[in-house]
Amino acid sequence: MGTGGRSGQRPGKASTDGVGVTPGASASYQYRCIECNQEAKELYRDYNHGVLKITICESCQKPVDKYIEYDPVIILINAILCKAQAYRHILFNTKINIHGKLCVFCLLCEAYLRWWQLQDSNQNTAPDDLIRYAKEWDFYRMFAIASLEQTAFLIGIFTFLWVEQPMTAKKKPNFILLLKALLLSSYGKLLLIPAVIWEHDYTPLCLKLIKVFVLTSNFQAIRVTLNINRKLSLMAILSGLLLESTMVYFFQRMEWDVGSDCAIYKDQDF
Ligand SMILES: [Zn+2]
Repeated sequence: MGTGGRSGQRPGKASTDGVGVTPGASASYQYRCIECNQEAKELYRDYNHGVLKITICESCQKPVDKYIEYDPVIILINAILCKAQAYRHILFNTKINIHGKLCVFCLLCEAYLRWWQLQDSNQNTAPDDLIRYAKEWDFYRMFAIASLEQTAFLIGIFTFLWVEQPMTAKKKPNFILLLKALLLSSYGKLLLIPAVIWEHDYTPLCLKLIKVFVLTSNFQAIRVTLNINRKLSLMAILSGLLLESTMVYFFQRMEWDVGSDCAIYKDQDF
């Protein structure tokens, strides 16, 4: 049931049978049952003239992936509700490949938030040109710091799971899939921009809720991708937060104004 189980694939008959959902799918057992996480050869069978039959999982006797019939909006709502089935559908049974762009965009949102907080706290009296260059430089600096903190968070999670791995898994965890899952599940950071643009009294509370939402999504992504229990997933998230907080602490020791949204230091930003 581990994530590395795709090596034992039989030569697929997929192309000749008209089986499978993704064009160009070359091998069998590349999908997962969203209910029990068992590997599955196909999501549906295309009999003839568009007559489709959803495959039933051999292990749990439920449809392998009911979401293939659902509207994307419903799937998104289920993902927002952190349903494991929706996560499995997105991570295993679709070919979504936007994690890189999404990561950069999330970092830009975070950099903008920090930059905005910095503008609020700095009352500069320097000439206009100087202010403009300084502000631009500040934005790049915030982007770099946000990237470093994101990297520290991910390294914390991966280190914990790597150390924990011999005790918990027989097969090697698929860390590339996990990285993709973590980047995808950080989509909640996109909410930072509306939270900042529609500034009101509850903005600090909104930012905290967004942070909690992103961490919950990351937690669920780890749990689903590696098929591990909640405790391990929570500990992985805490390890990531710990390393991120340590990095923020060192930044602060160097007296950089990082405007971090790291939970431990959050309060003093507002
Ligand atoms: Zn199943």
